[in-house]
Amino acid sequence: MINVTKSYLPDLEEYTNYLKGIWERVHLTNDGPLLRELESQMKEFLGVKHLKFCTNGTIVLQMALKALDITKEVITTPFSYVATTNALLWEGCTPVFADINPDDFNVDPDKIEALITENTQAIMATHVYGNACQIEKIQAIADKHNLKVIYDAAHTFGASYNGQSILSYGDVSTCSFHATKVFHTVEGGCIVTNDDALAEKLHFYRSFGHRNDDYYSIGINAKNSEFHAAMGLCLLPKVGDLIAARKQVFEWYATYLNFDKITRPSLTPGVDYNYAYYPIVFDSEAALLRVMDALKAQEILPRRYFYPSLNTLHFVKDAQSCPISEDIALRVLCLPLYPDLPKSDVERIAAIVNEAIAIESEPV
Ligand SMILES: *Cc1c(COP(=O)(O)O)cnc(C)c1O
Repeated sequence: MINVTKSYLPDLEEYTNYLKGIWERVHLTNDGPLLRELESQMKEFLGVKHLKFCTNGTIVLQMALKALDITKEVITTPFSYVATTNALLWEGCTPVFADINPDDFNVDPDKIEALITENTQAIMATHVYGNACQIEKIQAIADKHNLKVIYDAAHTFGASYNGQSILSYGDVSTCSFHATKVFHTVEGGCIVTNDDALAEKLHFYRSFGHRNDDYYSIGINAKNSEFHAAMGLCLLPKVGDLIAARKQVFEWYATYLNFDKITRPSLTPGVDYNYAYYPIVFDSEAALLRVMDALKAQEILPRRYFYPSLNTLHFVKDAQSCPISEDIALRVLCLPLYPDLPKSDVERIAAIVNEAIAIESEPV
């Protein structure tokens, strides 16, 4: 079976070496030495000022909203993983959906201003598939209207924009280190900011708002463990190689797929990409379903990232219509992509896709 992604695991011995240290210290969680080491290595790797390693890429979105005091309307993207919208709803905010750009599927900055009201407090955008949003345009709108910018940068680890990690932009950026992502810690995530005061606040939020017997603020439990940090320490030095291997898979798809009837989102100029996903867009949902069936018959399981368009979720009330996102969500499919996906499998997947589209377009 070939899944859309396959988690990369380090050598078992490398991981167990870290476990030996954990057994010796009996320090399992709560700001342990491996967590501190991972945070310091990640800050160095990403070139960012403050970074908190947390339990997942969802709670960090919630912490960002809480730390920035966002409780009302937030302009957001309809084209992302459901966690982006869920975090807003969970924190009692009102998601206001701005439609996406049909070229790169990121939120369209030109659609944001018309949605701003006196209750708008922030923009929460996703750098979808690891490709940067139009960061300058979004920042200019935020500055003009005094809004905070939170980036759900869950897909961007190892990707940069204008020579800087994509995670370094916005008031706050968050990342996910879930097992399915480019870099993972089994479960995990981080929150990044350049603001000292905000970083201090987030530090306390992560562990119940207190240090020893001093209680500073409200907080939640978003601490991650030494076991998760150990996985991160094993994988962080390999990120460059993992991205290079993904790039190779990308190039094979580009060689073997027939692009007569499929398109791909464009890459934002200035982005050094991390090859996080391989989305292809068909000319109809019927074509997508036909391709999925053909792949499934060979035990190949692509995923409909991202479907449905988040503004159409039944538990989102009074959402704006977003015709471009709704249309793309019906027609986009992410093909299997992971570092050790063999060339022969990419060739086979491409052949099945090519054949299934050709059948569809034959006259009846
Ligand atoms: C994976 C993902 C998340 C959630 O991350 P978890 O670590 O699984 O909680 C949030 N946003 C986006 C865009 C994601 O792809």
